Amino acid sequence: MTTVGGTRRFKDAQDYLEHFIVQEQIDKYLPGGKHFIDDALINRELEKARSAPPDPARVREIVARSTATRETLPAADVATLLQVTDPDLLEEMRAAADAIKHAVYDNRIVVFAPLYMSNPCVNGCTYCGFRSGNSRQQRRILTMDELREEIDVVAGRIGHKRIIAVYGEHPDTSTDYIAETIRTAYAHTCKAPKTGAPAGIRRVNVNAAPLPVEDLRVLHDVGIGTFQVFQETYHRPTYEKLHPAWSVKGNYDWRTTCFHRCMEAGVDDVGLGALFGLYDWQYEVMALVLHAHDLERWFGIGPHTISFPRLEPASGTRVPEESPYLIDDDTFKRILVVTRLAVPYTGMIVTCRERPESRNACLSAGMTQLDASSNIAIKGYSDSCKVSDQAEDRQQFMLADNRSLEEVVRYMAGRGIITSFCTAGYRCGRTGGCIMDALKTGREGKFCKINAVLTFREWLDDFASPETVAACEPLIRKELDGIKEWLPKFYPTVMKQYEATCNGSRDLFF
Ligand code: SF4
Repeated sequence: MTTVGGTRRFKDAQDYLEHFIVQEQIDKYLPGGKHFIDDALINRELEKARSAPPDPARVREIVARSTATRETLPAADVATLLQVTDPDLLEEMRAAADAIKHAVYDNRIVVFAPLYMSNPCVNGCTYCGFRSGNSRQQRRILTMDELREEIDVVAGRIGHKRIIAVYGEHPDTSTDYIAETIRTAYAHTCKAPKTGAPAGIRRVNVNAAPLPVEDLRVLHDVGIGTFQVFQETYHRPTYEKLHPAWSVKGNYDWRTTCFHRCMEAGVDDVGLGALFGLYDWQYEVMALVLHAHDLERWFGIGPHTISFPRLEPASGTRVPEESPYLIDDDTFKRILVVTRLAVPYTGMIVTCRERPESRNACLSAGMTQLDASSNIAIKGYSDSCKVSDQAEDRQQFMLADNRSLEEVVRYMAGRGIITSFCTAGYRCGRTGGCIMDALKTGREGKFCKINAVLTFREWLDDFASPETVAACEPLIRKELDGIKEWLPKFYPTVMKQYEATCNGSRDLFF
């Protein structure tokens, strides 16, 4: 290992495995060796809550408090909400979760595309198709030319503005490579098919392995959006069973302290997630909330998003089919509802891993972001050009929702939901603590409605079929009327930008 310009370089995978973790950067955030994922506390609260059916009056009081304050709930309250099974009470909770979502994020859903950059990986996660030693996987690292080809499809044909870039953990695709792909993604522009208007990626979120502070600063400086690191399971014994001790990922503490390092490095939009199906779902929700609590305690900033991946089949492993902790769709929806109530301000992401029916149901259970037209094979977009194509030997797991972005947009419009392609937030400095306040007070939801309308207009004009445009026009009108009512004095300024967008201007935002 050598150090160049403050970041470390590794001579090979073995060197990386042996030297990548920086122990002081773990210890700093676990003072006295006490972990914030307090296993005893989680078990105690769950046991207490499970000892008797939840009192409806107490449940309603918790829901009312979440609705009124939009602050993260204490663990005991979350444990109580997790025990509700009565259908009527569950429906009350769902309606409250939906109302909170509307108060915080209005009636919009933000869309993005996953873009897988590489699949070599030094780790051995037993449930994952990318794991080291899986000979069924074809290994590949996108070159920058190949990345541009992928963007030509994702941004140039489908019309996405926001990607989540995904990387295996490997010295060849660590910080330098991630930074280069982010720079390349931002720099590449293509032309929209209908109008010839410039199209491109405006926000690159990253899903990658935990990094040290110095490396996170590099990503901050190239304009990373949200940094996602999913914990997979927070239950330490299960984590250790599924992630071999010889691997970097085998270090539970390195992974759980990653977001603390992110905040230290200035990357203040962070995305939590647990892979549901690996362990008891109630334990995972409790732990996600404790994770949010600890970030709030240290930095006053909670998770920008929480993702809800569910275990899906993958190449060369039977773990996803044989896990004793698999959950059904109703439970999945309950997880979303409770999380929305527990962490009211956070964005909530449900991806194409889910079947269409399941994702449609989540739209009224607190969810705020989804992907569509997704292809998660390495170089899958430009090789196949068909989003429904799946290649088990080139992807981490299999997808269950193969709908196109256009189908999803129309479906949501039919339910009165506006699709947002907005990426203004981090470009205007609305990240971290700044966005937390705006979200909790509901300012962000209204403010972003304007950007949602402008970017939706762009997408309809640049990419949508005439039928889709016609189907979505009434929704746009309704949204503009809503803005007029909410901001009468500012409305003429909004309309000026809207008309400029109709006349071909692009990337206008507030
Ligand atoms: S889950 Fe991530 S770290 Fe684990 S094997 Fe797959 S790509 Fe590698």
